Amino acid sequence: MSKQILCLPGDGIGPEIMAEALKVLDAAKQRFGLDIDVSHGLVGGAAIDHDGVPLSDETLELARHSDAILFGAVGGPKWDDQPMANRPEKGLLKLRSELDLFANLRPAMLFPQLAGASSLKPKLVAGLDILIVRELTGGIYFGEPRGVRTLGNGEREGYNTYVYRESEIRRIAKVAFEAARKRGGRLCSVDKSNVLEVTGLWREVVVEESAGYNDVELSHMYVDNAAMQLVRAPKQFDVMVTGNMFGDILSDCAAMLTGSIGMLPSASLNERHQGMYEPVHGSAPDIAGKNKANPLAQILSLAMLLRFSLAEGSSLAEGSSLAEGSSLANSSSTGASKAADAIEKAVSDVLDKGYRTADIASEGCQLMGTAEMGDAVVNSLLSV
Ligand code: NAD
Repeated sequence: MSKQILCLPGDGIGPEIMAEALKVLDAAKQRFGLDIDVSHGLVGGAAIDHDGVPLSDETLELARHSDAILFGAVGGPKWDDQPMANRPEKGLLKLRSELDLFANLRPAMLFPQLAGASSLKPKLVAGLDILIVRELTGGIYFGEPRGVRTLGNGEREGYNTYVYRESEIRRIAKVAFEAARKRGGRLCSVDKSNVLEVTGLWREVVVEESAGYNDVELSHMYVDNAAMQLVRAPKQFDVMVTGNMFGDILSDCAAMLTGSIGMLPSASLNERHQGMYEPVHGSAPDIAGKNKANPLAQILSLAMLLRFSLAEGSSLAEGSSLAEGSSLANSSSTGASKAADAIEKAVSDVLDKGYRTADIASEGCQLMGTAEMGDAVVNSLLSV
């Protein structure tokens, strides 16, 4: 039976980079004989313009019935005046919460060809390979009550609620331990347990879970120190696990270590192994429509999709495929995972040839636009 992918390009550079990923998918289908149907939907600002809401019920239903979702990016100045409840980002948050996509896997891996593009010295980042496991459906981004109220003296006060249930901490901890077990065997849990009770519970539950993973070396770090260590000596980390807000910030920080936010894919998975795959960057309105965006994060997100959600025989519960999220390599023999390997190799090949979009450009490189970079990956994928 054919697999179903829902494609949600979104706003800004989203449609441009998605077009390149779809070219690559077509080439992968041709080379590996994959039986994949693609449907299309609107999300974010594009959905607000068409349907009045950032995610229509029809699109959500399509998402529920898909094996995987390939997501671009949402948002832009055009929709900045929307009320908070109807902003483009709400479409993304709704997809994550309705599909219970609680485990966000964000590899921060440095392609050796781009060591010079990092904001840190090459010797600090050469060989960097971190996997950040971020809890995605709980914490302060979803906690209630939330809002802005007017106090008795007329002053306004904004408030949010930082809350985690034990079960939410336990399931993300399991994912992180499984990932660490398959990688370097080290897990660093990031919290702020010296100040916030909710992260005190986080630490307690992570320690309880560690009893089942004697082969994984567990450490703890306060989030402020973790931010500092990421830019001081990032290679000390193997897998990091943390809550929604800390993970949001730390993974962007880790992204910059790799040279460009335009290189980094991510996966958000639920317990049924359904996933949504997206670049870690936003809709980049400053370069939208100019054929300047780097499509490689979107293309690498497609590779993750093929591996995590379409390859046979892998299960999140067993943690069987988590490690490959960072090593970007997989020995599984199914067509989808072979296609994932081949796409990642094609990306590495075009970097070897010196092809660069502006965000990763270096002296002597061959500068190219979004569409040309997509074509180069397709050519490399088909030239075997
Ligand atoms: P951004 O990630 O869109 O852009 C930050 C910087 O990185 C910009 O200079 C941009 O040009 C550059 N950049 C991003 N992706 C790139 C790529 N593929 N190639 C080359 N350069 C790239 O973040 P921002 O500027 O803070 O936000 C812009 C909009 O995106 C806002 O509306 C924000 O809410 C939204 N946003 C959406 C998501 C998402 O959809 N997941 C994530 C973050 C921000």
